[in-house]
Amino acid sequence: MAYKISVDCINCAACEAECPETAISQGDTTFVIDPKLCTECGACADVCPVDAPQPQ
Ligand code: SF4
Ligand code: SF4
Repeated sequence: MAYKISVDCINCAACEAECPETAISQGDTTFVIDPKLCTECGACADVCPVDAPQPQ
């Protein structure tokens, strides 16, 4: 399992630098998480202003 960024993402990029696994990148409409790299640490959710990253 991994975290997933919802459609609520406002593309602020705050989470990208916080991910210790560099699993987060800019996608077509929102930032996205590579589920193969995510370790569910929750660091992205901690910095997100709109609670877009959610555990699946
Ligand atoms: Fe990266 Fe942790 Fe967020 Fe997974 S939960 S995308 S490892 S910051
Ligand atoms: Fe999107 Fe939240 Fe990441 Fe900002 S911190 S890019 S709103 S998921």
